[in-house]
Amino acid sequence: MFKNLFPDHYYDSVFEIPYKDLKSEGIKAIIFDIDNTLAEYRFAMPPERTINLIKRLQKMGLKVCLLTNNNKRSLDRFNKGLKLPAYSQGLKPLAGKAKRAMKEMGATPAETMIIGDQVLTDIWCAKKIKAKAILVKPMSDRDIWTVKLKRGLEKVILSQYEKSLKAAAVE
Ligand SMILES: [Mg+2]
Repeated sequence: MFKNLFPDHYYDSVFEIPYKDLKSEGIKAIIFDIDNTLAEYRFAMPPERTINLIKRLQKMGLKVCLLTNNNKRSLDRFNKGLKLPAYSQGLKPLAGKAKRAMKEMGATPAETMIIGDQVLTDIWCAKKIKAKAILVKPMSDRDIWTVKLKRGLEKVILSQYEKSLKAAAVE
């Protein structure tokens, strides 16, 4: 069950992702979630570490954009210094804006990855557009209540995912 919601990779944070390797596997474009992925929930501005990461990815020649389910005001505030292509009210897991983001970056699904902290929004959305799905652990344990509701089911899915990894390792 839930196999179609398993991430392709699961990392501790956006800073642990081997971007170089993924690039050599053909990834050209990244769609980042914001809350609890690039910054702690309710953190209005990107932390220094995140700014440096984005710059490094751009220098590597990767296209980067932001896709949040949050509103435009929060997104604009966060993106003020970054000036990335960005989409608010993403309605993830719905695919509409992710598809648009991918198209505007000129990338195919095989060349795109979505990076986020939630299975039921970010990972599901990536699966829908057939992009690579990268899950990271949430940056903080604070969530808005709508997200808190989803964390229970997410735990079930992730424990199945981890079991499947262990089973694969034994084979
Ligand atoms: Mg998030």
